[in-house]
Amino acid sequence: MIEKTVAELSAALASGEFSSVELTQAYLDHIERHNATLNAYITVCAESALAQARAADAARAAGANNPLLGIPIAHKDIFCTEGVLTTCGSKMLHNFVSPYNATVIEKFNAAGAVMLGKTNMDEFAMGSSNETSYYGPVRNPWDLERVPGGSSGGSAAAVAADLCAMATGTDTGGSIRQPAAFSGITGLKPSYGRVSRWGMIAFASSLDQAGTLSKSAEDSALMLNVMAGLDMKDSTSADKPVDDYAATLNDSLQGLRIGIPRQHFAEGLSPEVEKAVRAALGEYEKLGATLKEIDLPNNHLSVSAYYVVAPAEASANLSRFDGVRYGYRCADPVNLEDMYKRSRSEGFGDEVKRRIMIGTYALSAGFYDAYYRKAQRIRRLIKDDFSRAFQEVDVVIGPTSPHTAFKLGAKTDPVAMYLEDIYTIAVNLAGLPGISIPVGTAAGLPVGMQLVGPDFAEAKLLNIAHQFQCHTDWHRQKPGALGKEA
Ligand code: GLN
Repeated sequence: MIEKTVAELSAALASGEFSSVELTQAYLDHIERHNATLNAYITVCAESALAQARAADAARAAGANNPLLGIPIAHKDIFCTEGVLTTCGSKMLHNFVSPYNATVIEKFNAAGAVMLGKTNMDEFAMGSSNETSYYGPVRNPWDLERVPGGSSGGSAAAVAADLCAMATGTDTGGSIRQPAAFSGITGLKPSYGRVSRWGMIAFASSLDQAGTLSKSAEDSALMLNVMAGLDMKDSTSADKPVDDYAATLNDSLQGLRIGIPRQHFAEGLSPEVEKAVRAALGEYEKLGATLKEIDLPNNHLSVSAYYVVAPAEASANLSRFDGVRYGYRCADPVNLEDMYKRSRSEGFGDEVKRRIMIGTYALSAGFYDAYYRKAQRIRRLIKDDFSRAFQEVDVVIGPTSPHTAFKLGAKTDPVAMYLEDIYTIAVNLAGLPGISIPVGTAAGLPVGMQLVGPDFAEAKLLNIAHQFQCHTDWHRQKPGALGKEA
């Protein structure tokens, strides 16, 4: 039963085929068997999960029947969870038990979802391979020598290997879409502001957005129905009506205009990835869509602009981790300055320190105009590129990543790692929604395709992704690296 989609599980729970307690126990058993290999979870909450499952079964017996009632979920360890360890993948928070829940957590709890645990991630969500985690790398269930992508690598691996039915993630520059692509699952980054950031540990506040990692676009729609909406606790959350994302999944794609950005099919793209994406585009033509080449002329500036904006905001956000109120504190400080210095030196990993240094430099007097302001201007150019494109097309489609999952330890140069997000980062800079869906395999590894829509067009994106999944079965392919009993 654990391999089923959320939509299927929901129907099975409703018909009494099995209970949420049985389902939850099945996931816990599977986690017990495979988490030591995958390292997808930092914390497993077996007891509280079973208690939530019992409550869900009782609520169902009393007549409740909402879609996520009793469905087991894993949450990225960036979301604050009351009474549960919340590390953000960092030694800095290795002992931090949150006193409150993030809004996203509250919403899933209210919907009756069962929290199995907290998933591994790159430290403070900085990375593309899950290798910067203080808790060690996550392994890709398709090939244990490879990374699952990052920073939401634990969530992606957990969904792909059926260690949960669905998972949350966050995406600042690609951290949902790229791990979804590498792990052969569906990953949605909503428009900036669609989902509350309250209680989500901040990396780069103008880019961070919570989203979904799931086995199908339909499941993402069911999750977004729960997550989306205005939150008075987050002043950047959008005061826009929330659609019923599941209601329009079956709309026809007849007449859909797809834009193919030339810049996403240029040098650096692996031929196998290109082949799978072009085949998927052919599938859309069969469903009535038309393809049109478009330009995103400033895309080549996106990674550089991001690596000014994101570290600048990170350096400000991470100043709160100083060893005073919570988190890691160095041993035997001699004075306040020594405590700040050593707590931060010992508590943060190398990549986080690198970002703090870059960000502090970019924001310092004299450099602000040269770097931060200029990066913000590039951001506007990138947004304008997309706005121009959306006058001619309904959706922009290309590869999610230039290649499939790479080997653990293969990328030691930080800049090479930064280039991982060459197709995804511009979407965050522009605040747009994007989804990655599996569209094939290359040498046995999943290939992801990215669909980008106009602001708040999540319903349309999910409709387009779902229609592909109704006519193909790439999203049903399962990783084999855990062996037969997986
Ligand atoms: N890989 C990018 C980075 O390291 C994006 C990470 C993210 O989306 N959280 O910053």
